Amino acid sequence: MTTAGMTAAAMATALRAGELTPAQLLADARAQLAGQGRSLNAFLALTDELADQQAGRAARMLHDDPVAAGPLCGIPVAFKDVLCVEGYLTTAGSRILETFRPPYTATAVQRLLDAGAVPVGKTNCDEFAMGSSTENSAYGPTGNPWDVERVPGGSSGGSAAAVGAGIVPISYGSDTGGSIRQPASLCGVVGFKPTYGRVSRYGLIAFASSLDQVGPFAHTVEDAASAYLAVAGHDVRDSTSVPDEVDDPLAAMRDGVRGLRLGVPREYMGEGLEDGVRQRVTEAIAVLEGLGASIQEVSLPSTDLGLSTYYIIAPAECSSNLARYDGVRFGRRVERPSLTDTFLRTRDEGFGDEVKRRVMLGTYALSSGYYDAYYRRAQKVRTLIAREFDAVFESVDALVCPTSPKVAFTTGAIQDPLEMYLNDALTIPVNLAGLPGMSLPCGFAEGLPVGLQVIAPRLRDARVFQVAAAYEAATDWHLLRAPLVAA
Ligand code: GLN
Repeated sequence: MTTAGMTAAAMATALRAGELTPAQLLADARAQLAGQGRSLNAFLALTDELADQQAGRAARMLHDDPVAAGPLCGIPVAFKDVLCVEGYLTTAGSRILETFRPPYTATAVQRLLDAGAVPVGKTNCDEFAMGSSTENSAYGPTGNPWDVERVPGGSSGGSAAAVGAGIVPISYGSDTGGSIRQPASLCGVVGFKPTYGRVSRYGLIAFASSLDQVGPFAHTVEDAASAYLAVAGHDVRDSTSVPDEVDDPLAAMRDGVRGLRLGVPREYMGEGLEDGVRQRVTEAIAVLEGLGASIQEVSLPSTDLGLSTYYIIAPAECSSNLARYDGVRFGRRVERPSLTDTFLRTRDEGFGDEVKRRVMLGTYALSSGYYDAYYRRAQKVRTLIAREFDAVFESVDALVCPTSPKVAFTTGAIQDPLEMYLNDALTIPVNLAGLPGMSLPCGFAEGLPVGLQVIAPRLRDARVFQVAAAYEAATDWHLLRAPLVAA
């Protein structure tokens, strides 16, 4: 029997019943990766030595005190290759970091190691997390477990595919404009972006610091809750980390949605949405209504400004964050007689096209004379978008809508950057406002997964889990596995 495709909760039970060991789970993860998962290119590097160490440590923790050991003890996990693990290659999907071994470990990773989780490896992603398809990785694209010819979404495509293909039950990604929720939607798994600041960004390679947030992928809402709790909470090493106590998603998940007011933003159901996506999401909303939630249409009028606002703010921050990759301290260096040429050649050869495009956009938007016209203006619109969410949350408890306007598209099918950016039209506003958001499976269109997005007010992360768990309990989508798991 293989444990591929099993939930972390089921693994945790089997570990405690003595039916499985952490070493067996790790061996199964490796077998699934080398077998069915091989065609996906979901992993960039394995963390074998650390995984073996952790499997041993987890076995001891489970033996000594199975209750204190916690739900992630002995569970195989994977990290998007933007999360630093001391001594192990961390490339951010970029050539410029192809030799970079960080001297320290990200807080989120460290908390998982302390909890006894077993890190299988680092997953593929768009270069520096810029993209919606994982095609911008310098190490080749990742396939979708439901159809390997299609993209898994991005930028955390490797992490979404790793769970979707049953290699690991839990993985982690980062979400700056949708990079956890959109790939979760396209791969038929749960993906959660916590409130901005809820999970430490210490040791996360920065893309756009005011938007970046770490979060988990899983098969079920319960596993996502355990995975979230393992990494959430204040960290003195991240100045934007939220000091408030973490509200308990597991408790909220028992509450159901009876009497809860759910809003459906009109602008999220409009133009640009594939018919199949609209149908599945409409059905999902009807299920929630059937469970006793009251549904009302709401309006977020500035939704269509989200994309242009994001594509000023995110590139501006990235142009600043990526200035440090000049061949001096990190990773790759292309030596030239003059220092200036060394900087230029290193960056020219090290960065891919999309990263260069963003650095140029951002540098331009921040340059003197354009700062007011672009950057300052974008910040104002950002505030407007956040206020519109605040206003809507006065009359509803949470929002439900599609995650992605489309299902997984064929690799190579989208060549125009602007068309690619449109994939995040429904996820970006949540990042601009710093809100928690989740995508969870709500059916299929043309044989491909569709995701339902649940959005709650800032720091009401638990409410996202409450709504998602109620929907999940009433449906069977979370029980299905991609053909790559079953094969
Ligand atoms: N796809 C969006 C972008 O390319 C979002 C990326 C992300 O969330 N990291 O910027």
